[in-house]
Amino acid sequence: MDDCVFCRIVKGEIPCQKIGENKEFLCFLDIKPVNEGHALIIPKRHFADVMEFPEELDRGYFAFVQEMARRIIPAVGADGFNLGMNTGAAAGQVVFHQHTHLIPRFKDDDLGSWKHRDATPEELVRTRKKILGE
Ligand code: AMP
Repeated sequence: MDDCVFCRIVKGEIPCQKIGENKEFLCFLDIKPVNEGHALIIPKRHFADVMEFPEELDRGYFAFVQEMARRIIPAVGADGFNLGMNTGAAAGQVVFHQHTHLIPRFKDDDLGSWKHRDATPEELVRTRKKILGE
């Protein structure tokens, strides 16, 4: 898509710090990193989000994600990493070209994790029934 920033990166119209690529996928550093080595992994073809991601790319995508993680994590000396796909504006998606954030994590970083809360067993049953239409 002409006005998609990630399509423009794929076409070489906008520069990026490329970490790796193959025929289908590209990995480059996020310009606003959460931690050193924060990278984005995208399909070269345009899909708005993970719900549009075609089945034929599935397997190769995660193999590529793993390959990029093996490249990035030791290089920046990280202790672990988060993978994230913001899907929809409410979830924080800003660029509507499917991408996975690969965010290196360090033992002493202060990013924390999801904020969990307690749920009663009844609430979990209600939620399951709502989701399954029971
Ligand atoms: P999201 O909020 O999941 O849509 O994330 C979009 C990400 O793309 C953000 O973390 C941005 O910092 C990043 N981003 C936007 N434009 C560029 C760019 N030209 N090069 C690299 N990263 C970008």
